[in-house]
Formats: sequence, C-alpha cells, structure tokens
Amino acid sequence: MGIITQKSSAQPRVVQVKAKHFNSLKVTVAAILIVVMVLMTAIVRLSTQGVQQRQENSRLQSQIAALQGQIEKESQDALLLNAEKEGNRSQAVSYIQDIQAKLKTINNFMSKRGLHSISFKKLNVGDKPKSDTKLYADFSNYLDKLVNNIAYMPMGYPKLSSFTSFFGSRGNPFDFGGREFHPGIDFKGHRGDPVKCTASGRVIFAGRAGGYGNCIKIRHTNNLETWYGHLSKINVKEGQRVTVGDMIGKVGSTGRSTGPHLHYEIRRNGHPVNPKQYLSLNL
Ligand SMILES: [Zn+2]
Repeated sequence: MGIITQKSSAQPRVVQVKAKHFNSLKVTVAAILIVVMVLMTAIVRLSTQGVQQRQENSRLQSQIAALQGQIEKESQDALLLNAEKEGNRSQAVSYIQDIQAKLKTINNFMSKRGLHSISFKKLNVGDKPKSDTKLYADFSNYLDKLVNNIAYMPMGYPKLSSFTSFFGSRGNPFDFGGREFHPGIDFKGHRGDPVKCTASGRVIFAGRAGGYGNCIKIRHTNNLETWYGHLSKINVKEGQRVTVGDMIGKVGSTGRSTGPHLHYEIRRNGHPVNPKQYLSLNL
C-alpha cells in the first residue's frame, strides 16, 4: 500500500537551461498525462466493477503516490524551461488543459461524496500571463493537495472479507424479534486477523468503549472519522498519526459481540453514515 504524505509546496527556483532540456517539455507533459490517464483508468474500472475490485482501492492509492513522486520530478525538469521556447508553449498549455479536465473529473468524484474538492482558480492556463515556472509550480501544488485529500479520505476495506451485517435497521442479535439500528458494517473474521486503517489521520481514541469493546477511533479530514470495534488487540495510541493501510489492531469479540468480527463505522460530522459508499469508488 502506498504511503502518502503531504509535502510542503515547492518554491520555484531559477535554474540554468541546458541545451538537452530544450525539448523536454513535450516529454514532461506527456509523462504527466500518461500517469493521470492510468489513474483515471483505475477509477473508471472501480466505478464499473464495484466490490469485485476491492483491491483496486489500494492500487489506486499506490498509483496516486507514484503520481505525486513523478509530478515532483517532472515539475523540476519543467522548471528548466522558460520563455525562450515559446514554440512549445501552446502545446504544453493544451496538454495541461487536458490533464486538468481529467483532474476535474476526479474532483467531481470527491464532491459527489460530499468531500471538499479543490479550487482550480490558480490554474487558469488560458490567460497566458504566467511564466512556465509559475504555471508548473501551481500545477504541482494543486496535485499535492489532491493527493493529500485522497489520502485522508476513508476508502476501501479495513479487512478483506465478506459482511455479516450491514448498516441500518436489523434484527437485534441479543433480543429475538427486536429491531435495532446498526451504525456500521460488520466484517467476517477470526480472532487475530489484521485490521487496517482506511485513510491517513490521527487516533482520537484507543481503548474500551462500552458495547464497542476494544475500539479505535481515527479522525481524518472533511469531519470524517472511522471507528473499528470489538478488537482483541490495539496497536496504536491516542494522538498517534496513522497512514492509510497501517495495521492498527486485530479482530476480536470484545464488547457487545456474539463472535469474532470487525465492526467498521464511518462518522461524518459526528453521525454514522453508510460505510458501503466508501468501500469502492462507486457513486
Ligand atoms: Zn457491528
């Protein structure tokens, strides 16, 4: 699983232009375009194939991490270009606009889930007042924000297994004939199975929590929290920062539980929401 971190925004630097870099602009933008297209393909595949592609989520995260690394390098190369190569500029602007259109689609996926999308105001390449250096620096910063936003968005499975109980009203397992509201999804499991966090964030609770038994609560961005209940073991401490995919604990049957399983809950603005919509990128 890719590890994604936010990096501080790179300041544009003045770099001497070497002859061999004169034609690097096309290569640079083409490389960025290809990576973004790979990313988009992954998203489209997820949208159409749903839960059968559950592992695509982690692949997507890795690709985004790779994208970030590549963009950083390519942007550095791009900084070598300047106004002397005006001939390449219109083509570069056209490539960037193409990439931006695809990024806008990604943004759209996020906003449909009620997550913050990222402003495009800084990237008005059509007006042509900016130097290439400024253009690429803005573009790189934008991608950093996008990557960061996605890393902190709960996505995918805390554990790869089938469900034993869904979100919503269900029969009360402790009271035959009674109904209760189930605020999360239960994943089938055996005692000791690893539990992974589904997004980067900060642990806000790790310990006993009534019916949840041994429970971990992690706060992400967008006022989102993920909760992991009935654990047999807790590997993290309150206040600890975690990265998407970290093994935070083990499946158990502590608290109000009839057998080993993982209770997974997502809360937005303090209220439980259906985690199913965060399992894949289906909209
Ligand atoms: Zn449950």
